[in-house]
Formats: sequence, C-alpha cells, structure tokens
Amino acid sequence: MSGPRTIVVAGAGIGGLTASLALAARGFRVIILEKAERLEEAGAGLQLSPNASRVLIDLGLGDRLAQRAVVPDAVTVMSARSGRALVRLPLGEAAARAGAPYWVIHRADLQSALEAQVVAHPSIDLRLGCLFEDFASHARGVTVGQRRRTERKQEAALALIGADGIWSAVRGQLFPAAQPRFSGLIAWRGTVAAKALPQADARTGVQLWMGPDAHLVVYPISGGRLVNLVAIVPDDWNREGWSAPGDPRDIRARFAAAGWTDAAQKLIGAVDSWKRWALFAMPDGGVWSAGATALLGDAAHGMLPFAAQGAGMAIEDAAVLAQCLGDSHGGPTAGDALSVPASLQRYAQARRARVARVQRLARQNGKIYHLTGPMALARDLAMQALGGERLLARQNWVYDWRL
Ligand SMILES: Cc1cc2nc3c(=O)[nH]c(=O)nc-3n(C[C@H](O)[C@H](O)[C@H](O)COP(=O)(O)OP(=O)(O)OC[C@H]3O[C@@H](n4cnc5c(N)ncnc54)[C@H](O)[C@@H]3O)c2cc1C
Repeated sequence: MSGPRTIVVAGAGIGGLTASLALAARGFRVIILEKAERLEEAGAGLQLSPNASRVLIDLGLGDRLAQRAVVPDAVTVMSARSGRALVRLPLGEAAARAGAPYWVIHRADLQSALEAQVVAHPSIDLRLGCLFEDFASHARGVTVGQRRRTERKQEAALALIGADGIWSAVRGQLFPAAQPRFSGLIAWRGTVAAKALPQADARTGVQLWMGPDAHLVVYPISGGRLVNLVAIVPDDWNREGWSAPGDPRDIRARFAAAGWTDAAQKLIGAVDSWKRWALFAMPDGGVWSAGATALLGDAAHGMLPFAAQGAGMAIEDAAVLAQCLGDSHGGPTAGDALSVPASLQRYAQARRARVARVQRLARQNGKIYHLTGPMALARDLAMQALGGERLLARQNWVYDWRL
C-alpha cells in the first residue's frame, strides 16, 4: 500500500494509533508498524482531561469511549496521615467550561476503541508483530526497514513518525544522545472490583492521597466496575517495561511503616495483584524532528505521570502533526516530499513549549505531593485556603487547549 501519500508510524500505542487516525482523516495513507503480536494493555487506568478527550471525540471515538469511560465528579485530595479530605476539585465544572468531558478509563478500553477505528479505516494498514528496524532518508522521503520474525521488508514513505514509546528505536537512530533518565520513583499499579472497596467515594471520583515521600491515586474505570490504584514510592529498582509483578506484602508494608491512615491502607490491601513500573522521563526540550522523520508522544517527551498528561500530550501531538502535514499536503502528491521536513519542524515548534511546561508541572506536582514534616503541613493549609475551584482553575491552560 506504500506510495507517495504514505506515512509510516512506528508504534501502535495511544500516540501512534491517534496519529494514524488523524493523518488518515487528512487524506494520508498510513502504515503502522507494531512489534507486539497483539495490542494489550496491563490492567491500569488513564485520566483523559478535556484537552485530550476533545481530540478523540473529533476523531469519531466519542460514543465508543463514553460507553466505557467514567465521568468522575471531582478530584478529592486526601491526607495520608489524618485520612481527611483536604480539598475537593469539582471536575464537572472544569469539563463544562472546557466543552469536553473529563474521563477516567481502562487503558485496554481506550486502546481497543482506537484499534477498532484504525482497523475499520480503509487508508490505514496496522501491521502487528512487525518491528521497526531502521530507516534511510532521501530526496523523496524515507525508506523504512521492518522485520516480521525472519522476514525483512522495506517500505518507501513520505515521512516516518516515531511513536514507539520512551525506549524509542526511531529516536535511537535519529538522536542517539537523547536518553530517558530514571527518576528514583516507581509506580505500583493494580485494579480491584469496585464492590470490594470499603469507601464508596473511591468508586465515583478521583482520590489523590498525599503522604511523606509517596502518594496514591485511586479512581474508577471500566464503567465503574473496577477501581484503579497507582501508588508512587521511591525505589532504586529501575527495569524497563511495566508488567513486572510486585509483591503485595511489600507495598502494604511500606505504607504501614510510613504511618498511612487505616483507610488508605485498606485501599492498598484490597489489591491482590500489582505491577511495577520504574518511572523514566526524557529531558525537557530536545529536538523532535530531522528531515522527513519526527517523534511523537513518549518517544519525544516521556514525562513523569504526576500531571496525568503523558497520553494527553501524545494525543495533542497527533492532532497537531496531522494538521501541520495536512496544511501543506491538501492533496498530497509525489512533489510534496519537499515540504515534509518544514511541516515536521512546524509541528515540533508548535508543541515544544507547551509540552515542556507540562513536564515541569508534572515534576513540581511530584515534589508537592511528597513533602514531609512542616512543609507538608504548610502545603495542606495552603491548599485548603485556596479551595478546590481555584486549585482546579490553575489547570485551565492544560484543559482548555484546542487545535
Ligand atoms: C503510572 C503512570 C500513570 C499514568 N497516568 C496517565 C494519565 O492518567 N493520563 C495520561 O494522559 N497519561 C498517563 N500516563 C502516561 C501515558 O501512559 C504515556 O504517556 C502514554 O501511554 C504514551 O503513549 P505512546 O503512544 O507515546 O507510547 P507507548 O504507549 O509506550 O506506545 C509505544 C508503542 O510502540 C511499540 N514499539 C516500541 N518499539 C517498537 C519498534 N521498534 N517497532 C514497532 N513497535 C514498537 C510498543 O510496543 C508500543 O505499543 C501514565 C504513565 C504512568 C507510568
């Protein structure tokens, strides 16, 4: 299916699938190379704020996602010491103002909705079990080398988009010096049946528990049947990937030793099966495009998850990338190869400052959530004095983004 209007996307994660739909909607043919034989997502949730949900709705995914997502009423910030709610941020009002929903969703639900839309699209060829290996640039664009088991193939394309995650092979070839850094923190992730939880409010909204050197995020997914838990703790375990099992006794003991309130310990104790994910991040800024190749999502800017915006930024990237390529390729022809590098540069330019600001926000949030002693007390008082609505209004610049 390759030809002058073809774009190869390496990686069928949230970023790669969204980018493929956005590019196809602008008249491109897309080949997606995905090394996994099947698209599976570990049992974990995702918060999708209005800036991201709006893009997905515009791509025609609204109905499919609304059936699976939960619309949380609020984010409640909880004290790990007292077990009390410190402040409540009313998400419904933020979503109404932004004109798009705030969703919490199982990753597998988002991924399967994207996959179904991709598979149904006549201009997209999703190749599972197909590894991106290398590429060569030339005047007509790029030639992309791929491998399925022992068979190697090459594909000519107008552009190559590296949406292959934080350990990106495309980035490795393009900018070998750009490397993710380990944060010294790991995420423990698990799900539990909602009816097994003692606290009703953990089934309807997002809870953010802040404690010394750690925090815990809890929210419903899968139409409210499951509750997703993410516990962030310091550690020097720094393996790649996100499906390493974690011993429930280990995480329970940590939260007990740190003096977390009973209510929080009961939430942790309700999960029988945990996965661990070492948190790596790319440095801010960096270069995301060279010639007819560009990076998108975690490949470009993998970030700490404390602003809940990594996937959101990948989704925004996808919309902007398609717009930049589409603007100069209203009716793509062979000659358009000449303008691709400039379009990709425009894309990177359009995204860099906003993404760097979100990366900073995520780091800052992590520090605030993990404060100890008098600083933690001051934080709690300041949050209460400010109140939920004003705290939430500080996110307006994130949520109100539009293409
Ligand atoms: C604990 C935690 C909580 C989070 N919570 C949120 C949240 O609430 N909201 C939010 O917006 N974000 C959140 N994130 C961030 C979010 O998960 C990521 O930013 C997002 O999944 C990145 O998507 P991506 O498509 O760029 O990369 P990935 O999802 O990593 O996808 C990359 C794809 O490329 C494939 N691939 C890799 N190499 C190759 C190759 N050589 N050839 C072919 N295919 C290849 C992989 O198999 C994979 O399918 C969280 C992250 C963590 C760790």
